[in-house]
Amino acid sequence: MLYLFGLLDTGKPLFRQTRVGRNQTPFVLWKFRTMKQNTESVASHLVDPAAITSFGKLLRKTKLDEVPQLWNVLKGEMSLVGPRPCLFSQKDLITERQNQKVFEVRPGVTGLAQIQNVDMSRPKELARLDAQMIRYFHLPDYFRFIVLTLFGRGHGDAVTIGPDRIYLSPPHLSGEENEYLQDALKSNWVGPVGPHVRKFEKEIASLLQVEKAVAVSSGTAALHLILRALQVGPGDIVLCSSFTFVASVNPVLYVGARPVLIDSETTSWNLDPDLLEKAINDLKTKGEKPKALILVHLYGQSANLGRIQAICEREKILLIEDAAEALGATYQNRCPGSFGVAGFLSFNGNKIITTSGGGMIVTNDSELATQTRYLAAQAKDPGASYEHSVMGYNYSFSNILAALGRAQLKALPTRVLEKREVFKRYQEGLGDLPGVSFMPEASWGKSTRWLSCLLLNPREGAPKPMEIIEELEKFNIESRPLWKPMHQQIIYQNTPFYGNGVADDLYARGLCLPSPSNLLPAHQDHIIEIVRNLFQTDRKSAEKFPSSGG
Ligand SMILES: *Cc1c(COP(=O)(O)O)cnc(C)c1O
Repeated sequence: MLYLFGLLDTGKPLFRQTRVGRNQTPFVLWKFRTMKQNTESVASHLVDPAAITSFGKLLRKTKLDEVPQLWNVLKGEMSLVGPRPCLFSQKDLITERQNQKVFEVRPGVTGLAQIQNVDMSRPKELARLDAQMIRYFHLPDYFRFIVLTLFGRGHGDAVTIGPDRIYLSPPHLSGEENEYLQDALKSNWVGPVGPHVRKFEKEIASLLQVEKAVAVSSGTAALHLILRALQVGPGDIVLCSSFTFVASVNPVLYVGARPVLIDSETTSWNLDPDLLEKAINDLKTKGEKPKALILVHLYGQSANLGRIQAICEREKILLIEDAAEALGATYQNRCPGSFGVAGFLSFNGNKIITTSGGGMIVTNDSELATQTRYLAAQAKDPGASYEHSVMGYNYSFSNILAALGRAQLKALPTRVLEKREVFKRYQEGLGDLPGVSFMPEASWGKSTRWLSCLLLNPREGAPKPMEIIEELEKFNIESRPLWKPMHQQIIYQNTPFYGNGVADDLYARGLCLPSPSNLLPAHQDHIIEIVRNLFQTDRKSAEKFPSSGG
């Protein structure tokens, strides 16, 4: 009779073992014995299958071996659903679980890790699933997990909990898109021209306070057309920001011109005006004069337009602005994109507003606008016949997408506020950590904080960007390094470059955190917590192993 209650530990049907409970207090866990000898105390993944009795196999398969734990549940030591209780000897797992605050809850008979078949041999992954389960647990999950434990396939059911993947900067619909799209569909204007295209252009032109706007199929196409319309061609030198996305420079190659790359300043992370002067002077000594400058406004922040525009005017260099990431930003209350001879926007899926794909040329030069419009529509000469005197492109924009864009544009002021709010929340949540500094906001304008960017200084105890990116990825959260500068790209390795080390440093130490304008505060707190945990682990190991210097 005694053994029925498990008071003895050998050869008896009940098995008991001390496990780590809530707040790391020990408790005695009960199970039906499934093994021949006293082997049950080894971690389950080390169990020799031969040690399991045939009756034990049946118990394990039917999960009946766990039934005595109902006693632990009744006693309040365990819960039906929760992280599996580990042994005090499983030091790695305990550390991981401490970091993820898993011990704040009661251990469970079953849980997410149990259902996914992740056992104690993978402490990091196990603790992560525990944390995921605890954070996003809702009552229906309770029943879902019990049902899956009893009737699931029992080998890694693809069950998840919590939000779907959190993306870096996903599209954010305003709710008005349907109405606009319906209107476009009903009117039968589903081609590459139509009333929504014209209205979208007018609305953008009025927002940026420019004379003309020409909608095209992408930002890259917009830049290509601007270069063509300005007759930038083979042999011409085009100065370009090096710290940018590749689409800011590739069109220079499309037209056969020669890019010259210029580094960034620390104030705005955009093109350094001092270095621009230096490059122009240096080229002068070689008897060369750049024809144009492609100035990029990155991450929702304007470059130093005042100085750069003055330099371009003085040197008679055509200023082209890449404002693909800067819609909604200001430079002294004016919009970047509206300063140069021409600028362009992008409505790609990751931008602050989107048409799934699309771009817009903005300019005060109506001839330039006409020329780009002509080139975008296959350069078809006036008249009924299809006659062409120059080479054009099929870069027109669709009326359907313009309808989408107009609905999106209405939400732009709200999106800017939301993006800035996301940035602020990261600043509050992470700003105190050692070696963390956020992207500065230059005094000349307002940034949209399109992406929340920060720099990490490993010498002050911060982890490397890749460590954070990889850790967030485990939680199905997307984050990225900053743009890899063009002078580091294989395709531009032989391109002249005027450097000062800023872009290299930004790329080496920079991180873009998920910045959806509709990021839920609870999800952002989770992101913040994951990042903070990486710092805590570092600090702890630093305390444990004090180094003698460096
Ligand atoms: C997105 C982007 C572009 C290109 O725009 P697409 O519409 O994707 O062709 C160009 N420059 C920068 C800086 C961008 O971020």
